[in-house]
Amino acid sequence: MRKPRLMTPGPAPVPEDVLLELARPVIHHRSAEAKQVIVDAIAGLKEVFQTANDVLIFTASGTGAAEAAIINTVPRGKKAIVLNAGVFAERWVKVCKPYGIEAVSLDTEWGQAVDPAQVESALKQHPDAVMVIGTLSETSTGTGHPVDAIGKIVARTAAVFMVDGISGVGAMECRTDAWGIDLLVVGSQKALMLPPGLSFVSVSPKAWAAIDACPTACFYFDMKLARKKMAEFDTPFTPAHTLILALTASLKRMKAEGIENIWARHKLMSEACQAGVTALGLELFSARPAEGLTVFRVPEGLKDSQIRNALFDRFGITTVGGQDRLKGKIVRIGHMGYMDELDVISGLAALEMVLADLGFTVKPGQAVTAAQQVLIGQRAKMPAG
Ligand SMILES: *Cc1c(COP(=O)(O)O)cnc(C)c1O
Repeated sequence: MRKPRLMTPGPAPVPEDVLLELARPVIHHRSAEAKQVIVDAIAGLKEVFQTANDVLIFTASGTGAAEAAIINTVPRGKKAIVLNAGVFAERWVKVCKPYGIEAVSLDTEWGQAVDPAQVESALKQHPDAVMVIGTLSETSTGTGHPVDAIGKIVARTAAVFMVDGISGVGAMECRTDAWGIDLLVVGSQKALMLPPGLSFVSVSPKAWAAIDACPTACFYFDMKLARKKMAEFDTPFTPAHTLILALTASLKRMKAEGIENIWARHKLMSEACQAGVTALGLELFSARPAEGLTVFRVPEGLKDSQIRNALFDRFGITTVGGQDRLKGKIVRIGHMGYMDELDVISGLAALEMVLADLGFTVKPGQAVTAAQQVLIGQRAKMPAG
């Protein structure tokens, strides 16, 4: 028997009660019942995002809401500064191109965190930038960026701060309003514990002012139209309302656990996973790890596909490798959303066995012990090697 264990940083596992909502008969999307579902979903999202701002729902993957946020805010011919430290930030550079937006790419070495001081000098150099685009959790490198510090800097300027929180929100601390995030973009299939298909964006008054001043350059993703409809808890086009219903179930779970507890759980899982991985002598890729996934370098003499295929073939565990220039160089293990401490422990146990099979020197229990030491509150000071 091979039990499916989805340990990827999106899509991430979906709890049974959320899946069951998807088995209900389809209702009409303009009914009073459907409207109430949107009312509930928006209230829950505001709590998870820690915002009092408007929240819009798009039927699209995360990239859709991000593209909407960019093209509704930055007029053709104007500038956006992109804090570029991985594949996903790079995508926001690419979005600008077809819309004639000038993307100023502020490059940071992959695996390193963006330096807020560099954002400050970029803003001085480009005082005409309409937007700064940052990432909470850069999933391609497993890095968490200091969005709080960057938000303070951007807030002192005329620029609007957009944050790609697609894999970060619901996995690591994110205080939209307190941190000065004007546009927070989130997708359904990561830490929000849903299948893919929905994305969300919160919009501050500062962002709305920029959007109102920006000529509309799109149709489906027109945020001014979406705002008008959302005032009546409606959407301009047929939404994936079966997914929005399922979202209310996952938000109910999140409310019951409490957002601060959710952040604490992910922090603990990531510290345990990091401890396990490093106890095996593996090297973490990121200098400032994000909390929804753990990324390690493929050890010398092995291929990432050998490790990942063995994890899948023997234990049904799905992980992902590197993208773009990191192809073949890293393994990424997701532990976001519907995951707990034991998922991390069993993932590490499997990793030990698989590495041993592949001829890597492993003392059984090495990674598991290190992770357990973190989990039982004794931050392990692992001896070297
Ligand atoms: C997954 C992810 C995306 C892409 O989202 P899609 O839902 O695949 O469009 C963008 N940014 C980050 C940080 C992600 O983790």
